[in-house]
Amino acid sequence: MPINVTRSSMPDFEEYCNEIRELWDSRWLTNMGVKHKELQAKLEQYLGVRHVTLYTNGHLALENVIAAMNFPKGSEVITTPFTFASTTHAIVRSGLIPVFCDVNDVDYTMDVSKIEALITDKTVAIVPVHVYGNLCDVDAIKLIADRHGLKVIYDAAHAFGVTKNGVSAACFGNASMFSFHATKVFNTIEGGAVTYADDALVQVLDDRKNFGLHTPEEGLYAAGNAKMSEFQAAMGICNLRHLDGEIAKRGVAVARYRERLCGVDGIQICPEQRDVTSNYAYFPVVFDGYKYTRDEVFERLRAEDIIARKYFAPLTNSFECYRTLPTAGADKTPVAQHLAERVLTLPLFADLTVGDVDRICDIILI
Ligand SMILES: *Cc1c(COP(=O)(O)O)cnc(C)c1O
Repeated sequence: MPINVTRSSMPDFEEYCNEIRELWDSRWLTNMGVKHKELQAKLEQYLGVRHVTLYTNGHLALENVIAAMNFPKGSEVITTPFTFASTTHAIVRSGLIPVFCDVNDVDYTMDVSKIEALITDKTVAIVPVHVYGNLCDVDAIKLIADRHGLKVIYDAAHAFGVTKNGVSAACFGNASMFSFHATKVFNTIEGGAVTYADDALVQVLDDRKNFGLHTPEEGLYAAGNAKMSEFQAAMGICNLRHLDGEIAKRGVAVARYRERLCGVDGIQICPEQRDVTSNYAYFPVVFDGYKYTRDEVFERLRAEDIIARKYFAPLTNSFECYRTLPTAGADKTPVAQHLAERVLTLPLFADLTVGDVDRICDIILI
């Protein structure tokens, strides 16, 4: 049986049909209908955050919240290259310059000891990434941001359901972006959200995701269309009912991976973070001095119809489209570069069985 790197969580077919049935009566399919309002309220409660604004995907959520901050064009934003393309693209597409901070080699999030050296009089914000669901050092980042008057917008695409001392990942920084893409721990097929506490942002974000129209006759911003539909919201309402169970099932698979792979010479696994409850979003493994290279492990698994992913490689600061960017160059972020050459994320989803994990580990360890 082939095993893919991920497999979307879905409710029973009947449950989804029941959820969307009333849309055939109302004929209200998008534009902030009843399902949209219900999902938003449920997420505010689940995440314990004051405001959630829903989007049709996580990427546009990030672009919209950056736009809402009104940074002058050409300003600098400190971020990391060890992320999905979306994070860096959102900064660049907003007319801002990404300044790449290296990551640490323990949990692969932004190395907070290297942030301040990158701050200039043009710096306006920090966009760190909670990679693999590992939380950034949110306290250190807050101290630095406060000291220098910078905004903090987290890419929390991997961190839905993660809490630190009971506080959800949605509550850190000025705002956080979540992705509800089909491959994420919580999905609305395609979808995303911005979470935040500032009441003044609500109307701005609501207007911006709907062409910048405040009312049909009042165009406040030259903005695009990023609305979540009723069908996406309905999928989210269903998936949220089962989320805790799905995360628990992921946790069983991760516990087995840890049992089999921790302590093996040449294999590096992220330690569990203190005071943090994980969502078990990904299982990254770094092959550093192991008997097989990362690429060899990838090929050995593929030969058995098991698809792992070289996630994240390449680094965004080595993308072709950023060749002319003065801040580009993977050599400027050596830890991230080291990881990108050696990391593999192994298959992980709620229905991955302990037997599947054993099969995968047997191939890696043999
Ligand atoms: C998935 C992802 C995004 C983009 O989210 P979409 O919903 O696919 O647009 C951004 N950043 C990271 C780190 C992601 O994994």
